[in-house]
Amino acid sequence: MERLETGIHAGRLSPAEYEANFSDLHPRLDNHEALVAADRCYFCYDAPCMTACPTSIDIPLFIRQISTGNPIGSAKTIFDQNILGGMCARVCPTEELCEQACVRNTAEERPVEIGRLQRYATDAAMQAGKQFYARAEPTGKTIAVVGAGPAGLAAAHRLAVKGHSVTIYDAREKSGGLNEYGIATYKTVDDFAQKEVDYVLSIGGIEVRHGQRLGRDFSLSDLEAQYDGVFLGIGLAGVNALRIEGENLAGVDDAVDFIAALRQAENKSEIAVGRRVVVLGGGMTAIDAAVQAKLLGAEEVTICYRRGKEHMNASEFEQDLASSKGVIIRHWLAPKSILSQDGKVAAIEVEYTRILEGRLVGTGETGVIAADQIFKAIGQTFDASGLGSLRMESGRIAVDGDGHTSLDRVWAGGDCVFGGEDLTVSAVAHGRDAAESIHRALSAAAAPAVAVA
Ligand SMILES: Cc1cc2nc3c(=O)[nH]c(=O)nc-3n(C[C@H](O)[C@H](O)[C@H](O)COP(=O)(O)OP(=O)(O)OC[C@H]3O[C@@H](n4cnc5c(N)ncnc54)[C@H](O)[C@@H]3O)c2cc1C
Ligand code: SF4
Repeated sequence: MERLETGIHAGRLSPAEYEANFSDLHPRLDNHEALVAADRCYFCYDAPCMTACPTSIDIPLFIRQISTGNPIGSAKTIFDQNILGGMCARVCPTEELCEQACVRNTAEERPVEIGRLQRYATDAAMQAGKQFYARAEPTGKTIAVVGAGPAGLAAAHRLAVKGHSVTIYDAREKSGGLNEYGIATYKTVDDFAQKEVDYVLSIGGIEVRHGQRLGRDFSLSDLEAQYDGVFLGIGLAGVNALRIEGENLAGVDDAVDFIAALRQAENKSEIAVGRRVVVLGGGMTAIDAAVQAKLLGAEEVTICYRRGKEHMNASEFEQDLASSKGVIIRHWLAPKSILSQDGKVAAIEVEYTRILEGRLVGTGETGVIAADQIFKAIGQTFDASGLGSLRMESGRIAVDGDGHTSLDRVWAGGDCVFGGEDLTVSAVAHGRDAAESIHRALSAAAAPAVAVA
C-alpha cells in the first residue's frame, strides 16, 4: 500500500500503527503509582483544588481514601458530587482547573495528579460494579430531560435518586452526547462512554427514547403539557459556516462530523484522511481534529487560527499535545478562499491578520497553503427549534444560577445555556444543580399549605 498517497484516503497506516496511535493517552495508574501520587497531597484545609473544580469534589478526602487503600470509598466521594467523574477524570483540562490550583503547582514542582487519581478510583468502583445509590420512594412526579449528554445524564441521575420518574429524549441513536460523539478517541478508549451511560442509568427510573428530536418530533410546549418539569441539555447542534468561496467543495468538512465518524468507526483504517490537512479554528475541536488527522496518517497537518496563541481556546496542554504529534499551529491567518483542481480541494488562500484599534482586521497580505482536506472548527451554534418563547441571551438559553429558564417548569444546563464554560465537567455541574432546583420546586408545590390564623 502507498503510504502517502495524495488526496483523501482510508487505510494509510498498518493495523499496528492505528492501534498504537489511538491507545489510551493517560493509562490508568496501577496500585503502587496511585499510592505514590496520593502521598504527594498535602490535604490542605482550604483545598484550592476543590474550589477550582466546577463540581466541587472533595478532592483531599478522595485522595486520602486512596492513600488509605480505599479506592471504592474514594469513588463514592467523587460520585456524590459528579456522577460522570469517570469521564471527567479522562477529559477535564485539569491543567486549567483542579491541578492548576494545587499548591504543589510551582516552578519547582508539579501538581498532584488529581485527574489520574480520580480515574484510578472511579475505574475501580465501576469495574467492581459497585453502585452507591438507591432510589428514594417514588414521588409520582415525572420529568422530561431533553439531551442525553453530560448535562442531561447528570440531571436524570440526580432526579432518579430523589424518586422522580425521568424520560430522556435524544435525537441521536446513542446516549452520551459529545462524550460518545465528540471527545477525542485517545481520551476515552474501550467504549468507556457507553459503559458510563450504563452505569448512570442502572440507578433505574430513567427511560431513554432515542431518535426523538425536539423541534421535529415534539415541542417544548408538548413536554410542558405532559410532565411536571422539563430539563433541556441539548448542547450546540449547529456549526458556523466559513462563508468563503470554495466552502462546498469535496474535501471541506466540519471537524465535529469527522471526529464523530472516527469515534463511531469500528476500525480506524476505514476513516479517510488527506495527505495535507488544514484545520481552521483555535479551540479544542480544532486541536482534536488536527491531532487525529495526524494519527490517521496525514503527512502534513496545519492549524490556521486567525488570532494569536494567547487567544486560543485550546489549553496550553492541548496545544503542546498537538505540537508533540507533529501538528503545525500557525497564528494570525484568516481563511480567504478555497482553491480547487478538478472539483476537489487543492489549497487554501489565507490572509494575515492583526488587531487594529481593538478589532481584528486583514492586513491585505495573503498566502496559499496546499491542502487536499480542510476541516472547519470555527465554533458550534445553538439550534432553538421547538423552544417557542423561551428567553435567549446571546443566542443561548437564558438561565438563573439554578438553571431555571424564563418558563416556570423548565430548566436548562450545559453548552446550550448562556454563560457556561463549554466543558464536560461544567455540564455535569449544571445538570446536577438544576435537578436539585427542580426537586426543591416540586417538593414545595407538593407540601401542604400552612394554615394562617
Ligand atoms: C470535538 C469536541 C471535543 C471536546 N473535548 C472536550 C474535552 O476534552 N474536555 C472537556 O471538558 N470538554 C470537551 N468538549 C466540550 C464538551 O464535550 C461539552 O462541553 C459537553 O459535552 C456539553 O455537554 P451537554 O450535555 O451540554 O451537551 P452535549 O454533549 O452536546 O449533549 C447534547 C445532547 O443533546 C442531544 N440533542 C441536541 N439537540 C437535540 C434536540 N433538538 N432534540 C433532542 N436531542 C437533542 C444530542 O444528540 C446530545 O446527545 C469538547 C467538545 C467538542 C465539540
Ligand atoms: S472533575 Fe475535573 S476539575 Fe473536578 S477534580 Fe475531577 S478532574 Fe479535577
